[in-house]
Parts: sequence; C-alpha cells; structure tokens
Amino acid sequence: MKVKILKYKANKILNIHKYVDSWFWNKYSAYPYKGCQFGCEFCYNREARFRPYKDPEDFSKVITIKQNAAELLRDELSKVSIDLVAIGDYQPVERKNKISRKMLGVCLDLKFPVFILERSPLVLRDLDILEDINKRSCAIIAFSIITTPKSKNYSKLRFFEPKSPKVKKRFEAMRKISKKEILTGTVFMPILPYIFDDDENIEDVIKMTVANGGSFVVGGGLTLGRGYKKRYFDILERIDPLLVNKYKALYPTYNVYGPDPEYLGKIALKVTEICEKYQINDRIPRPIEFFPEKIKLNKKIAEIFFDKVYRMEIENKSVYRVWAYRKASWALDALEENVYDIYKESGLIGLDEIRDIGEFFSRQIEEEIKKLIRI
Ligand code: SF4
Repeated sequence: MKVKILKYKANKILNIHKYVDSWFWNKYSAYPYKGCQFGCEFCYNREARFRPYKDPEDFSKVITIKQNAAELLRDELSKVSIDLVAIGDYQPVERKNKISRKMLGVCLDLKFPVFILERSPLVLRDLDILEDINKRSCAIIAFSIITTPKSKNYSKLRFFEPKSPKVKKRFEAMRKISKKEILTGTVFMPILPYIFDDDENIEDVIKMTVANGGSFVVGGGLTLGRGYKKRYFDILERIDPLLVNKYKALYPTYNVYGPDPEYLGKIALKVTEICEKYQINDRIPRPIEFFPEKIKLNKKIAEIFFDKVYRMEIENKSVYRVWAYRKASWALDALEENVYDIYKESGLIGLDEIRDIGEFFSRQIEEEIKKLIRI
C-alpha cells in the first residue's frame, strides 16, 4: 500500500506536561511524525484531536513529517530544566528520514535522559547514540507487546496490529538492548479483553520479557475513544459477533473510554501477581540519577507515593484517598527545596506547610525519610 508523505516546518515540537507521567516518568515529549504506518486499531492517536486529517482512514496512509524537528528540539530543550523526554518514532518512514536519530543526538548533546516506547526493532539502528545517552544521563527503551506467538489467540493479533513488526523481533531487540545495560522491558498495553487477557497469555508475555533481559512489565487496559470505538467494534464483529455484547457490558456508557474499573483492577492485579512470581517489576523504576542532588530525595519519595496511587487504583480504593495521594505526589515532585532540609529544620510542622501535604502525608514523608536515609 502506498503511503503519502507530507513534509512541513513545524512551529513547536516539545510538549511540556504539567505533571510528570507516573507510568513512564517523562516530563516532556516530542515526536517527529503525525500518523503511524503501523496502524494499530486500538491506537489512541486515532482520536480526532490527534489526527491531522479529516478522514480517519488516513491515519496510517498519510504521514506528516516535521522536517525541522531536531532544530526545534534543540532550541526548546535549551530553555527548560533537565528531565525525562519521551521521544522516538521508528515507523518505516524513519528509516530514510532519520529524524528520530537526529532528535536523540540533540538529547545527547544537551544531556537530556530519554524514554522510548516502540513496536519496531528499527530502534536498534540508534543503539550507539542510546548507549551514549545512557552513560551520560539515562535511556529507557520499552517495547509495546500484547501477546506472544504461544497464545491461543495469536492469529488474531493481525486484526489489531495489522502492520507492526513481529513480536519475536521486538523481543530480540529487547535482548540486544538489555545486553548494553540499558533499562528495557514490556509495556503490555492495551490488554485486549477476552482476546489477550487470559492468565496464560499474561504469564507468557512476562516470561518472555524476563527471558529477553527485560526488567519490567507494565500492564494497562484498553481505552476505546470515540474516534476509533466503531472501527474496533467492527473488527470484533468479524472475529466473533459474541464479543460485541461482552464488550458492550465491559465499556458501560457512564465511562466512555475505559472498561469497568473492577475488571481493570482484576487484570492489573493479575499482572502484578505474575510479575512477583517471576521477580520482575510491574512498574518502570523511576530514573533519578540525572536530577540535581538537592531534589533526588523528593523525587524518590514522590515515586513511592505515585506507586501507592497505582496500587490503590487497581484495588479500587476510595477515589478521595487516591486523589489525596496523587496531589501529595505532585506536590512533592514539584518541590524545589530538599524535603529532608525542611524536615531537619522544622520537623513535621515544616512538612505540613508544603502545599497539598498536610498532617497525614507529613508523617508518611517522615517515615520514608527515615527509611531512605536511615536516621
Ligand atoms: S505503533 Fe503505536 S503509535 Fe503506531 S499505530 Fe501502533 S499504537 Fe499507534
């Protein structure tokens, strides 16, 4: 199938997120292409607000290239503080255009750590730069993998990932990356209900990740946005019409995008349980080495709080408690003073005065400080 390529000069490339992403830890993101030749049917980039074209069919057939992405990135990164950048897009157009490679070169020059989430082993082409970034600051390369060839439903993968590189190739790339001592693993998202959510498939994905040197498996559910829900349901109809009603029950109208939270929690707990069995992380460990010494402890304790948010969410704990923890995590993450200095100087009262912390979280922070710096 012929792909139409459109090139243009963009005005801006760097997205600066208000809060750090507690799944992948990036504060920034920058991508050189719009549209994706891999054309996964569940891709949230199919949503109208991310699509550069009117016709949804164009998502994988018309690719827009931001020609000046690397120059813009250099300019924009030089104006912000060092933090993790989600970057890289290794769809087929990258082979010739090499814009992701140029953007990595910018991160290397400016000492920015990077996070890459890929389906393509083409990322191996840039392993030289990624190794250098990893030595200078940090690189994390995760692979999107939702099943393995051992799954009873593996043949159905072609309906959902029609043009993605083979799963085997992704695991081989993971192995090569792990040998370079770069943090790698699997982003097991989206776990497709009634297709790839069985215990055997979950266990195989985790087992294969471990076997290929991965250090984490992060599981997540399928969201069905308005922009692609109908397409997705049409595929279900083709595979097995009975699936349609099962999905309708799982994606109730009150929750437009995500599945029933109870189902989601059950699947996430299953991933956690099997990760524990194989002694692998069910979250991506937060890289903090590149932060200034002064705020490293804040970032570490924020990570612990973010982790609690995740655990509480999958256990369907009270929304109020989850939000209280989330706000405390954000506050700690944004704190510019060293939290230990505040504690040393003014004890719990000082911690209590930090925005969104209060008495309960002051005690939690005190506990973590004592554990982490053994006072
Ligand atoms: S590879 Fe990623 S960006 Fe491309 S279509 Fe699939 S999910 Fe979307």
